[in-house]
Amino acid sequence: MENESAEVVRLRDVWPEFERRIPTDAAAADAIFQLLEGQGRIVCRCSSTNVVRAPGGRTFKCLVCRHKTWFTANTLLERTTNLKGWMAAIYLKQNRVVFTPAQLARLTEISPTGAYEIQTKLNLVVCGQINDEALLLQSELFQDAICKRSRETPARLHPVAEELTARGAEVEVDHTPLNTDSVSPSCNELSTADGSLAVVEKYPDATARREPLPVRSIRSAIAFIKGNCHGVSRKYLQLYLAGFCYQFKNLVRAPDSLLNACLAHPPITYNDLLCYVTPVYVQFPWV
Ligand SMILES: [Zn+2]
Repeated sequence: MENESAEVVRLRDVWPEFERRIPTDAAAADAIFQLLEGQGRIVCRCSSTNVVRAPGGRTFKCLVCRHKTWFTANTLLERTTNLKGWMAAIYLKQNRVVFTPAQLARLTEISPTGAYEIQTKLNLVVCGQINDEALLLQSELFQDAICKRSRETPARLHPVAEELTARGAEVEVDHTPLNTDSVSPSCNELSTADGSLAVVEKYPDATARREPLPVRSIRSAIAFIKGNCHGVSRKYLQLYLAGFCYQFKNLVRAPDSLLNACLAHPPITYNDLLCYVTPVYVQFPWV
């Protein structure tokens, strides 16, 4: 295919190995069970480890008290039906392979919506691992990547207008219409429609750290989000920035570290995703 990016070629390079290891949902369940068993985490509520499990099953049965346990319960993978899709996304992300939800959906025969949800939840897990020392930047630095609407986007305005309401929300919870002409992107003040001046000072000013802005990295992140995800809503900007840094930051990772993080992470509900909103200052753990 013409114009095929290097990332797509790389995806094709690694996909056969994943397909060989995890051809089905049942194989995915087996792999997760083996990982947990190797870590001594297959334990019945009665503390017995004397259990049996049918190949491919999501449960094990205790031979002492006969209790049946779902071994992905209370993890990110709780109640997931497309386990192969999850394992594929985790495997590709762990190995820094760039993929889109559409590619994941096609390769693992899940719905595009399901693939998008997997990607968003994985980004939320990765986001939760960001060190508190990570660079804080004003989210508006990334506004060129914002071109999708969300439930936070004001009616009849461009998605980037969400930036203004997000800043306003730091001052007051109600959604007073903002006078966009009077907002200066370089200061923390904004005018509301009634003419009053609000000052945003809940978060520290990132520029006050006197650290040089990682301009090239910011541009790369914007280009990646626009090119690979066709942009993002402001609501989920932080998650995509975390995903970008996880993808490209050259840190040594322990094998299965992302899968282990998912198995240590509580379930993320649809409502959790709905309620998530990128803060005014985003963590950008690139430098
Ligand atoms: Zn038991």
